[in-house]
Amino acid sequence: MAESTILSNTANLEKYLKLPQGNKVIAEYVWIDGSNGLRSKCKTLNKKVTSLKDLPEWNFDGSSTGQAPGNNSDVLLRPCAYYPDPFRVGGDNILVMCETWGPDGKPNAYNFRHDADVVMQAHASHEFWFGLEQEYTLLDFNGWPYGWPKSGFPAPQGPYYCGVGTGRVFCRDIVESHYKACMYAGINISGTNAEVMPAQWEYQVGPCTGISLGDELWMSRFILHRVAEEYGAKVTFAPKPIPGDWNGAGLHTNVSTKEMREEGGMKYIEAAMEKLSKRQAEHMAVYGEDNQLRMTGKHETSSYDKFTWGVANRGSSVRVPRSCAQEGKGYFEDRRPASNADPYQITGIVVETLCGMVEG
Ligand code: ADP
Ligand code: MN
Ligand code: MN
Ligand code: MN
Ligand code: MN
Repeated sequence: MAESTILSNTANLEKYLKLPQGNKVIAEYVWIDGSNGLRSKCKTLNKKVTSLKDLPEWNFDGSSTGQAPGNNSDVLLRPCAYYPDPFRVGGDNILVMCETWGPDGKPNAYNFRHDADVVMQAHASHEFWFGLEQEYTLLDFNGWPYGWPKSGFPAPQGPYYCGVGTGRVFCRDIVESHYKACMYAGINISGTNAEVMPAQWEYQVGPCTGISLGDELWMSRFILHRVAEEYGAKVTFAPKPIPGDWNGAGLHTNVSTKEMREEGGMKYIEAAMEKLSKRQAEHMAVYGEDNQLRMTGKHETSSYDKFTWGVANRGSSVRVPRSCAQEGKGYFEDRRPASNADPYQITGIVVETLCGMVEG
């Protein structure tokens, strides 16, 4: 443990977590704030939640989260998905993913879910599946990658990717805890691996249908921050946490439609490439902040400005997996999004580019 100010006593906490709570249910409402971060607060309910309708709307002080002015600060929380709470096992407690709405009946400026939901519902017949690869870096209390020498650097990249053993991987306990916690919550977490830069990791969520990918990915990020908090580590989703010859972090976005997954699907994948090639700038605009720092054309990235695609090519904007090209159907991987991008914005613009815009 790096020098930190944690004064927690897990044994004491265990004692209180085990206390019975009667028929009461704790619902922790989670939302996205004005700086791409997450916030949450808890509400006691009187009975088990069995449908979204059981969850009342709520509100918070948007002037404290960069989401509203002080003189009109109430922002509405509208529940859109809920999950068993892995931090409060033993009751019917839940984590609730929420949309944010203004008092004027319009989505909050940072509510990117709403528009994505509109476009996805309009094109629901294509049955979009998404699988995202979330890369992230664990930092110590002072903000330096966990396990790196104090004010120094580890040996060059090479032994760390999918590595095992002391000095090759750091904080596996956090990764394991997060994996199991996501599973318990019913998040469709499909795997995890250590990444190329030491203290950098990846997990995958998906395939999920339509808007649920965004809900599950955002909740998996909440769970990651929450788990890391218990270990005194910080999570950063910055796309290039350490400048120089150290890999950046992405959010590779795997996409398929019903047509692409069926026999002869390759021609739909090729048609999608044609459409994507015409909207490079529009996609990059919502593929995460500081993505230019990561997309240098080195470290398995492509050009920031130019769209390219190829079979099994990890240096192109979009990669079609070799197995899909061989079978003539499947999915494609958009390698451009940065690790800090909003999955609602990514999946929303993919559907928009492939199927057409919808007036919200
Ligand atoms: P990589 O080889 O790029 O590291 P990963 O194994 O990390 O790939 O991630 C692949 C992702 O693709 C997973 O999240 C998986 O759920 C997703 N995926 C697999 N099949 C499909 C599909 N047909 N449509 C969309 N996503 C898919
Ligand atoms: Mn108060
Ligand atoms: Mn991967
Ligand atoms: Mn990766
Ligand atoms: Mn990938």
